[in-house]
Amino acid sequence: MPFRPDAPGLSIVDVADILLVAYLVYRLLAMIRGTRAWRILGGIVVFILALYASNALRLNTLHWVLDKATLLAPVALVILLLPELRQALETVGKIGLWPQVLPSLSEPAAEAQTVEEIVAAVSEMASARVGALIVLERTASLDEIIANGVPMDARVTAPTLGAIFYPGNPLHDGAAIIRGDRIVAAACRLPLSESERLDANVHMRHRAAVGVTEALDCLCVVVSEERGTISLAADGRLRRLGSHLELREILNTQFRGVSSGRKTERRTAPWKGGWPR
Ligand code: ATP
Ligand code: MG
Repeated sequence: MPFRPDAPGLSIVDVADILLVAYLVYRLLAMIRGTRAWRILGGIVVFILALYASNALRLNTLHWVLDKATLLAPVALVILLLPELRQALETVGKIGLWPQVLPSLSEPAAEAQTVEEIVAAVSEMASARVGALIVLERTASLDEIIANGVPMDARVTAPTLGAIFYPGNPLHDGAAIIRGDRIVAAACRLPLSESERLDANVHMRHRAAVGVTEALDCLCVVVSEERGTISLAADGRLRRLGSHLELREILNTQFRGVSSGRKTERRTAPWKGGWPR
């Protein structure tokens, strides 16, 4: 039966109510997508399915145990999700939802400029063989990573990125984190990938780039100090790029419009074929 907002019993207020709840659920899922909370959510879904299946299949003892376990579920969930709950409340407190509803008109120009600044910095550092690790936030919050580094709040410019990774700078070791058009932290420690798919001569910096993109939906640009090469990690995979032009092309499609200001569902590597080193 076609959906009719004017159907008896369904007022405009009800429709607005349903849309509001759907939007909040969508925002919540987008916020936790690719994070630890996302995996916990997967576990909860499996638990609920097991609860119903054990009942339907008359596995009485199993059903009794699972049923009793649900009594502890609210407490267990609050303990497990404490960091995420705090972060979500902080976001709502800062009215962080509104910029996504009303994106500023100047945003596309600012995003294009951010990509240009990153590309210029990476190109210069690659020529000068200055090692760099730059993580670009996409749909998953990088707050956990930012928390272990040195917080900062600077507009993304090529000289600022160059200064961070300048070998004499105390902040050059570790990763810089970019959220929208801001550098929000430097000297961050990233999770290292344990992947056996990676070549033996892929060392810490590149393993860290792969590791962070395995754990969270983000992009990570790596400049090799040893080789002067530019690589990009996404979705747990690493690809060496031909030049900074390739980086510009990928960032223009995979970072602009996807950075934390406006998030999408996409979680695929930004290239087809040609896996890596
Ligand atoms: P390069 O090609 O630049 O030599 P690599 O992949 O060979 O990189 P290493 O030579 O081991 O890796 O790089 C060491 C540097 O990588 C460290 O000085 C540090 O800046 C960075 N690094 C290592 N581990 C991490 C980590 N877990 N998180 C962030 N940065 C890291
Ligand atoms: Mg090395």
